[in-house]
Amino acid sequence: MELTFLGTGAGMPSNQRNVTSIALRLLGDRGAVWMFDCGEGTQHQYMRASLKLSKLERIFITHLHGDHLFGLPGLLTSRAHQGVLTPLTVFGPQGVKSYIDSALMASQSHLEYKLEVVEFDGTSSPNELLSIYEDDDYRIYAALLEHRIDSYGYRVEEKDKPGKLAYRKLAKLGIPSGPEFGQLKQGNNVTLSDGTTLIAADFIGDSVPGRIVTILGDTRACMNINKLAVKADVLVHEATFSRDLQHLAYDYHHSTTDDAARAGVEGGVLALIITHISPRYQIDSTELLLREVQETFANSYVASDFWTYMIHRKNNLSPIVKEN
Ligand SMILES: [Zn+2]
Repeated sequence: MELTFLGTGAGMPSNQRNVTSIALRLLGDRGAVWMFDCGEGTQHQYMRASLKLSKLERIFITHLHGDHLFGLPGLLTSRAHQGVLTPLTVFGPQGVKSYIDSALMASQSHLEYKLEVVEFDGTSSPNELLSIYEDDDYRIYAALLEHRIDSYGYRVEEKDKPGKLAYRKLAKLGIPSGPEFGQLKQGNNVTLSDGTTLIAADFIGDSVPGRIVTILGDTRACMNINKLAVKADVLVHEATFSRDLQHLAYDYHHSTTDDAARAGVEGGVLALIITHISPRYQIDSTELLLREVQETFANSYVASDFWTYMIHRKNNLSPIVKEN
């Protein structure tokens, strides 16, 4: 799994940072891209990052502020213009469907592919994680954060992969490949015709734990962050302000470097990436923000546009950074 930051600025684009969008590439056989937020200009950033719209499967919107949303109509229609016919699903808070529908209707845009919009509402159970998606490989949860409008964080959990069957060990015992292998793989003990019982656990390697990626929308410090972030391999947290502007962060319902770092510590995450940086901080202020966040949480990074972070399986923390 790999995160590519397409836009890392707060509020409005600057010549150094576009507004928010993050691509999560699943890699492996699937090769799909899942996008988190889609600020204006995201489709340009997406192209420049050499990502393919045909691979874009799902888009998750954290909240309906324009700097997280205004890129959607252009991106959706470009996907159609490119002749992509595979379905696309957009997840987001209530209101995202009417935004998309009105933009497409007013511009008389027609999508040839199937667009599904899944809205959710966490306001009736604000302290709970909402299960919003599940397939064979992943589970996704959303939970309400604290912002000026309803804003959500997402927790993407990759399911554990079962351990591999010890074929060589079985061969050494003279057990030929057959239906017994399938039984063992499923964790069932097998009794052979000579009465020998094979204990499944003796022939299956350790399962491979799935990775957890937590990506938050705009928020100030709140209880649900911990539920979303606990034991994550990586937590992507907004840090609109440096620590000296804590009062502004609180008033505007945003976070500082210190808030993000504390969330990393409290969640017991492996790595923390801060993004959604106010335009008041130019790229040469990155060192300052990094220093602040690393004082509390050492394995921290400050995202920049087109920066890519590889999420390795556990026990291998070093990120691979690709220059664009
Ligand atoms: Zn916002």
